[in-house]
Amino acid sequence: MALSEFELIRRYFERPQATAGRADVVLGIGDDAAIVSPPCDRDLVLCMDTLVAGVHFPADTAPAAIGHKALAVNLSDLAAMGAEPAWFTLALTLPEADADWLADFARGMFRLADGYGVQLVGGDVTHGPLSVTVQAHGLLPRGNALRRSGAAAGDRIYVTGTLGDAGLALRQEGQAPAALRQRLDYPSPRMESGQALLGLASAVIDISDGLLADLGHLLEVAGLGAELRVDDLPRSAGFLAAAGPAVINPIYYDIPLTSGDDYELCFTVPPGRCAEVEARLAALPGNCTPVGVVEAEPGIRCRLTDGGTWNAAGDGYQHFRDGHG
Ligand code: ADP
Ligand code: MG
Repeated sequence: MALSEFELIRRYFERPQATAGRADVVLGIGDDAAIVSPPCDRDLVLCMDTLVAGVHFPADTAPAAIGHKALAVNLSDLAAMGAEPAWFTLALTLPEADADWLADFARGMFRLADGYGVQLVGGDVTHGPLSVTVQAHGLLPRGNALRRSGAAAGDRIYVTGTLGDAGLALRQEGQAPAALRQRLDYPSPRMESGQALLGLASAVIDISDGLLADLGHLLEVAGLGAELRVDDLPRSAGFLAAAGPAVINPIYYDIPLTSGDDYELCFTVPPGRCAEVEARLAALPGNCTPVGVVEAEPGIRCRLTDGGTWNAAGDGYQHFRDGHG
């Protein structure tokens, strides 16, 4: 069924104020621009990410998953700053205005949005190859953001959740077990964890490009390195069942280290605050696992429990290490 752009926005993206209305939205969808009223004791945090069909998600991805993921990857960036999400805008480029597709997409997106009380306040619709851009807006206690910079030698390195599920699902394509495919399609942004780390973590980044690459960015800004205990990386039951046993199978190490799309948080904590961080995050979705230590010497050294070294197969991080090691 063909829809006009106006009809499409009204039908799928405008919602009754009672469903999604935040008191701080002065003017939502429908005028030339939205108006929001941020509290004056907070900093406004902005981020934007685009998902392109065939690049950021497989072509066969369910529309509800595309809607979920487009918002989730942005919420993950806000989580990595310690921000509380408030509003978002949506730029949608569609090859056609398909009613079923749009209804499913909107359902996936709003389910996540409503779970965090974040409101869609505007956007744009254009015709072209499928691509979805979300800009998310969050709020932070003034001056308190969690940044990528700030790690110090001796800080402990943690990750939330489990690593490698999404990467293994991508690798196994149609053969991937449902639990892994779910993690690829419906990532859980660690909003609660990010906010719980305010004032405790020395540096935070979200893992979108793989642990080695993203931890590499965090260490690079600080001019530091790390030792990672690769046997301690958190792996889900679904991952273990699908990946096969450790050591004889490089997937067991390389996927959690180098594959993207996990949208977990990686963060560093001064040793004196680890107990408090562990206690706080144990009560939240995803918990956290200590996986290594920040060191003065640049580069990331992947240690096995038996004392050996694991050399991950090439990725973006290898380039970084080669430049610094
Ligand atoms: P204009 O072309 O004058 O900018 P639009 O038709 O693009 O007007 O937008 C009309 C209203 O609908 C605006 O409030 C805009 O923010 C909103 N809007 C457009 N596309 C979307 C979308 N995909 N999701 C939410 N709101 C949208
Ligand atoms: Mg417009």
